Amino acid sequence: MTANLLDGKKIASEIRENVARRAEELKARKVVPGLTVILVGEDPASKVYVGQKEKACREAGFKSDLLRLPETTTEEELLSVIGRLNADPSVHGILVQLPLPSRIDPEAVIAAIDPAKDVDGFHPVNVGHLVSGVPGIVPCTPLGIVRMLESYRIPLPGKHAVIVGRSSIVGKPMAHLLLARDCTVTVCHSRTPDLGYFTRQADVLVAAVGRPRLITADMVKPGAVVVDVGINRLEGGLVGDVDFEAVREVAGWITPVPGGVGPLTIAMLLENTLSAALRCSR
Ligand code: NAP
Repeated sequence: MTANLLDGKKIASEIRENVARRAEELKARKVVPGLTVILVGEDPASKVYVGQKEKACREAGFKSDLLRLPETTTEEELLSVIGRLNADPSVHGILVQLPLPSRIDPEAVIAAIDPAKDVDGFHPVNVGHLVSGVPGIVPCTPLGIVRMLESYRIPLPGKHAVIVGRSSIVGKPMAHLLLARDCTVTVCHSRTPDLGYFTRQADVLVAAVGRPRLITADMVKPGAVVVDVGINRLEGGLVGDVDFEAVREVAGWITPVPGGVGPLTIAMLLENTLSAALRCSR
């Protein structure tokens, strides 16, 4: 049996159309959703991501600004830029592209963003809301994954979700979102002995590691839902954390790379920005 494809690109394009429609309606109230992205330095992958975000904003009819700051920018200078954006009513979302140069403490920078404008959902206030089950801004990648699973009507209550990776950006928020949907959740990481022992128990397996094809077919339960968050740049192109060709013969559902989780992340960034603009316009 070959797995069904979870077409993140298609779901993302539906979400983006919906966002663009709602942004158009908002214009009647003289509000244009505004996202400012801050890029410090010259990281090539970051430049690509920032370009994709800008294009998506334009297509949704948002006001989109990219602030390119030099590699030599100090933490103090960056905090002052954020302070200015916090006070600017035309800016509804602020996103600091990570990673930052090593001299700058990312925690201090994230904490400086107004939580209401933290469209990445990384501010401690938003993290706290997610953990306590209070509505707040949720990180785009795990939010997009849940949205995709719901779109495909994948049943979640009572399922065993195994997440490989415990980053604050993907693994941890993913665990909370799936817990809130009544999954039994296991989180694995680099110190987990015998990873396959855990992944083979997964009804829903989320790989967010950054190791090309770490998840092989023998690590997957037949019929499982496999979500591949990984983006690994190899000479032959992009590959995920899942050995797609082999695992698709075992899994019930699987996301491709590219065209799976990546497009959803951008779609949810637009949705988070639109929601921030809506809250301001009330
Ligand atoms: P990260 O911060 O580097 O975290 C990686 C996690 O994987 C860590 O928790 C690490 O464990 C764990 N890990 C590393 N090697 C492992 C192994 N051999 N076995 C089990 N666990 C292992 O990465 P991230 O930011 O979460 O991103 C993960 C991947 O997703 C990357 O490829 C990234 O590019 C991609 N990504 C994609 C999107 C998208 O939109 N598609 C968005 C975000 C990230 P420790 O905690 O013990 O170190």
